[in-house]
Amino acid sequence: MATALAQLRRAVDQLQLSDNDWNTLSTPRRILEVAVPLRRDDGRVEMYKGYRVQYSTTRGPSKGGVRFHQDIDLDETVALAMLMTWKCALTNLPYGGAKGGVAVDAHTLSLAENERLTRRYTSEILPIIGPERDIPAPDVGTDERNMAWMMDTYSVNAGFSVPGVVTGKPIVLGGSLGRTTATGDGVAISTIEGLRVRGINPQGATVAIQGFGKVGYWTAIALEKMGLKIVAVSDVKGGVTGFKSVAEIFEYSTKTGSVVGAPGTDTLTNEEILHLDVDVLIPAALADSITEKTAPGIKARVIVEGANAPTTPEGDAILNDKGVLVVPDILANSGGVIVSYFEWVQDKQNFFWTAAEVRENLNQILMKAIHEVEETSKSKNVTWREAAHMLGVSRVAEAHRLRGLYP
Ligand code: GLU
Repeated sequence: MATALAQLRRAVDQLQLSDNDWNTLSTPRRILEVAVPLRRDDGRVEMYKGYRVQYSTTRGPSKGGVRFHQDIDLDETVALAMLMTWKCALTNLPYGGAKGGVAVDAHTLSLAENERLTRRYTSEILPIIGPERDIPAPDVGTDERNMAWMMDTYSVNAGFSVPGVVTGKPIVLGGSLGRTTATGDGVAISTIEGLRVRGINPQGATVAIQGFGKVGYWTAIALEKMGLKIVAVSDVKGGVTGFKSVAEIFEYSTKTGSVVGAPGTDTLTNEEILHLDVDVLIPAALADSITEKTAPGIKARVIVEGANAPTTPEGDAILNDKGVLVVPDILANSGGVIVSYFEWVQDKQNFFWTAAEVRENLNQILMKAIHEVEETSKSKNVTWREAAHMLGVSRVAEAHRLRGLYP
């Protein structure tokens, strides 16, 4: 939360907003903490902590993912919900921001346990979610299966099918074409734009990606197709370099549970992958990976943040001094929520788009945001992160001013 608040403080100061604005913008609007009981397959009953934070509803219903990870707590969930708020405003989606999760290691759950936990968590947060209130989506540790169970649990309770209550659903349940790859596609577009600004030819440009989950994998696939060279990838167990193609390394990691040990590759630690001599570094794992400790050794000229909050303020300052262009999380990984928005619109209209329409609209919204950030960074002489926060925060502040304070 300290990082997110520091970024907000800076944006509020740079925009010369009032103390009233700061008080409004720095406070989450609704927090729900729930106990989620789970009957394990062997009959034991365990309790897990669950959260849903609706940071802002000023510009529309709140929106954001659900994370299943053993380390999440309320503080981090609030910070991530705050980031969703600026992300949706930066991309001009008619949403506030939210985040939720359960403090559980999803890898330790059987499929049946995962389903029971997802359904019980959904039923605990049911009173505050809905297509007009707050729309969850996948995040770390959850995917389209969890979204299908969430949609079903909500719908059974409503008595009719409500596809628009979550996004990131399977296509047959009202999901959108292109949602699965959307975050990675957006990171790839941001990478190409970052290289353009730094005057580096994308053809043959070298890339290291920390994290090989939904974001890292689809980013790698998209960039490889665009002619860049993915030289290293990593997961929680470590990284590898020296492979021939992303498909090859994906096949190995699907079989064995990790990229580490793939035949013909050399192993790296997760810190070593950050320090490779590459054109682009893409942190696409968890928060706080680029810090005052790891930033000094970074050689990449462009960093594109696939993960949410991968860089601490101290790490950020070091990168800026080195002249590294950082395409910040709320811009670089916004492709996911942009296509979530398309999914929600399609569910509302019961009218579904072609893959080409999704691609074209994603491109248009993201490119507009990238150009606005680039322009603001130039005209205000601030970093891309500062520019992105200024744009997002100022839109929420303006909406708030126009709505006025009730009563
Ligand atoms: N979890 C993703 C994010 O952090 C997507 C959220 C959404 O689609 O609502 O942006």
